[in-house]
Amino acid sequence: MHVHTTYSSDSAVQPKTLVEQLVNHNFIKVAAVTDHDTVKGCGVTRQLASAYPDILIIPGVEISTPHGDILVLGTEEMPPSPWTVENVVDFARDRGCVSVVAHPYREYGLGDLARNYKFDAIEVFNGGSSSSANKSAQDLAKLMGLPGVAGSDAHQPAELCTVYTEVQASLDIDEILKALKKGFVAVPAIRGSIRF
Ligand SMILES: [Zn+2]
Repeated sequence: MHVHTTYSSDSAVQPKTLVEQLVNHNFIKVAAVTDHDTVKGCGVTRQLASAYPDILIIPGVEISTPHGDILVLGTEEMPPSPWTVENVVDFARDRGCVSVVAHPYREYGLGDLARNYKFDAIEVFNGGSSSSANKSAQDLAKLMGLPGVAGSDAHQPAELCTVYTEVQASLDIDEILKALKKGFVAVPAIRGSIRF
């Protein structure tokens, strides 16, 4: 639910590499492309993925607000500026997208401020966060009564598919977004071969 491609200035993941990983992976078949402040990467990746009927790319973006990063899942358009937390959350709700507090207790995370806004979900497991930061994110999700999602936050090919979210939905973007909002999700996070 959180992957960067080369359309983020700090990522080395080619869209083609992500598509190949999903095609070859034995159970991870969906990825949300969430580049920093651009939807170009998800557009290109979706185009490449359209040749393969058993994989799906959810379009999205990771917006840098002055208070912290927000994932918007299900959009091929950018929210209008200024990118305040409120504007981004409102944009997501008006468009039927899913707003997610990205890595709330890491650098560029919203932290406790997230409690003041109507988010749809909390990123409770981020592949780049410490276990204590992820634990705090899980506590925040519980406190806010929101579903938790997991994402690798991959910026390198080796980081792809190291973390995943189980979603009870068919291979369809609208179905997946609905399931996320309803909390039909689980986060059996993996790193390498260790499952925890
Ligand atoms: Zn990210």
